[in-house]
Amino acid sequence: MDRYENAIIRCHEVTKFYPVGDGVFALQNVHLVVYPGEFVLLEGPSGSGKTTLLNILGGIDRPSHGEVIMKGRKFSRMSEDDLALLRRKDLGFVFQFFNLIPELTAWENIAFPLRIAGVPPSEIHERVGSLLSRLHLEGRANHYPIELSGGEQQRVAIGRALAPKPSLILADEPTGNLDSKTAREVMELFRDFNQRDGQTFIVASHASEFEQYATRVVKLRDGRIVE
Ligand code: ADP
Ligand code: MG
Repeated sequence: MDRYENAIIRCHEVTKFYPVGDGVFALQNVHLVVYPGEFVLLEGPSGSGKTTLLNILGGIDRPSHGEVIMKGRKFSRMSEDDLALLRRKDLGFVFQFFNLIPELTAWENIAFPLRIAGVPPSEIHERVGSLLSRLHLEGRANHYPIELSGGEQQRVAIGRALAPKPSLILADEPTGNLDSKTAREVMELFRDFNQRDGQTFIVASHASEFEQYATRVVKLRDGRIVE
């Protein structure tokens, strides 16, 4: 039996080489196995490879060498279309700079991935309403991103990432643009979804202050996992 059978995602011997100048190894021989229900904090200083690793785990970028396997499916054997479908259905992304659609309200931003997926309108209303309430955004449904604080924008972005009920959420420095109190609130929301809904999180941060939220801390240094 494959001892990784129950992993939600794993990567094996992942190396990413950028042929710029003398060449940069953004990642070197990275092995990581994540199981359902984990909350992994991917910690490392700027330039250690966190974004590169999250992009490879999310199928946004392909490794120079090595393999990523999500729920038994090898990314190397999947087409770009297959990967795009997997990203839409089973992965949620949260970024440092929120990346909301400025022309859409908070409600519409959260509903957006559900519209694309063809979810029936009644179900969209139900899901968006319940997310707005869990994210403490009830009074902000009709606000545009520019009318929201950074913390509110990030909560909308979390709602958008969680709306399609992905099993795995990848967050790249989600608190990097927030003050420390708002940052803690975002981490508490992640923990709440992790604990109550069993969604798996991999959250990258250059700060060690968030270790308390994680079920496991993985440390990256110069493209290698050191701990
Ligand atoms: P982090 O997110 O931890 O700050 P990154 O994954 O962004 O780290 O970067 C890891 C290393 O790879 C850095 O040395 C960075 O300069 C390099 N790198 C990242 N993206 C590229 C790219 N597109 N071309 C060349 N080098 C890159
Ligand atoms: Mg980064």
